[in-house]
Amino acid sequence: MYCKYCGSEIDDRAVICPKCGVATSEVQIQNSVEQKTNTLAIVGFVLSFVVAIAGLICSVIARKQIKQSGEGGMGLATAGMIISIVELSLSVLLSIIYMGIFFAALGI
Ligand SMILES: [Zn+2]
Repeated sequence: MYCKYCGSEIDDRAVICPKCGVATSEVQIQNSVEQKTNTLAIVGFVLSFVVAIAGLICSVIARKQIKQSGEGGMGLATAGMIISIVELSLSVLLSIIYMGIFFAALGI
């Protein structure tokens, strides 16, 4: 991150800017908010493996919440969303293939 007083690049975990000695407490509060992972993002990620459609809905809502609140878990929510979409696409594709085999077997 950058010191908002002198603009020099400092370590993300630095409490005090080594260049000008000003405390970075305000930046630290922002970081602690970001570190709190959105609950729905975790739920959505887990659900994406169990019930794809529920995982997709939770992940999409979680992404909206994270964008507004600045919470952590955006990667998790995105992963949950992608996994759900891939699973849904695969299940639709498999259904079409099975239907094709079914109708082919019937000779239609
Ligand atoms: Zn500084």
